[in-house]
Amino acid sequence: MKNTYQVLKDSLLTYYKYGIIGNWVRIDASTLCQLECPICPHQKKGAMDKIGYGYLTFYNFKKFVDTHQSIKNIELSGYGEIFLNPMLLDIIRYAFKKGINLSAINGVNFNSVSEEVLEAMVKYRFRSICISLDGSTGDTYKVYRKGGNFSQVIRNIELINKFKTIYKTDFPILIWQFIIFGHNEHELSIARKRALELNMIFSPRFNWEPSFSPIKNKELVRKQVGAASEKEWAQKKTQPYLPHCLNLWASPQINWDGKLLGCCVNHWGDFGNVFESGLKKCLKSEKYIYARKMVLNKKPPRDDISCYYCPYYKNNNRMNLLRMFYGASPITMLFRIIRNKLYF
Ligand code: SF4
Repeated sequence: MKNTYQVLKDSLLTYYKYGIIGNWVRIDASTLCQLECPICPHQKKGAMDKIGYGYLTFYNFKKFVDTHQSIKNIELSGYGEIFLNPMLLDIIRYAFKKGINLSAINGVNFNSVSEEVLEAMVKYRFRSICISLDGSTGDTYKVYRKGGNFSQVIRNIELINKFKTIYKTDFPILIWQFIIFGHNEHELSIARKRALELNMIFSPRFNWEPSFSPIKNKELVRKQVGAASEKEWAQKKTQPYLPHCLNLWASPQINWDGKLLGCCVNHWGDFGNVFESGLKKCLKSEKYIYARKMVLNKKPPRDDISCYYCPYYKNNNRMNLLRMFYGASPITMLFRIIRNKLYF
């Protein structure tokens, strides 16, 4: 109860100060990656130009945390692999000291993690990690996760579970993210079972680029996850499959070098630099305010706003966002926010 009260208090303070619902931001800890997954933006010519390759320094992390004290949840995963950040250990330790919940829900490949970092994640109560494992065998896994080692990932998961037993904690919560392709759909049920054995939440996801290894057996996938595509899922649930635009209001994305990107999809432009000007100034900038209105269809498209180039904007996903914001009851919204802040 005390925890819920604190979450509400921090959330109200953050809304008052920054106009963010909740007290969560995303800072990409690393845009470096060692794998070569075929449809990742890293493989697309020019896609990483604005974001660049690098990692969040401890200096910038500390400065951000010290100057934005009502922010209590920071998501670290984004366009790269957070474990390639050589300062991650210092970041985890400092976050714990300052009462900040860290998470990596966007996804990690979990191939190269030192034992020291694995232990620190347990010891300092890292909240949750979403591990990309698109298969239940090494052969299937490496069709998409090129350069990855399935057995090594499983070893890292087992090691983190060992530390969780030693430190007697449920954190970090582990999520097995399984992107459904044509080449791995037959392993969905085996992977689900394996996830349970490893004390992980199983989270199947649809491929964002269905032209690569498209689903072959739609009925099988429907049986396993309730729908056979993002579109089908969204129609059934009458809400966007992944409401990325919501980041603009609930968890603004910051690049590793401080550029405010707004959401985890944007790689076309920025809204100023948070490490230089502070979060408040960037979130209150004319362009950011305009982007929010543009996404909600309250302002016409403008080509100096990143959303203009985004497929989600072009596909009119904003109408779904509108429904989600104004259609959901305030009680449901509040419940979702509290639940996410407490557990993830
Ligand atoms: S339209 Fe695209 S870039 Fe803009 S907030 Fe939504 S997902 Fe992000």
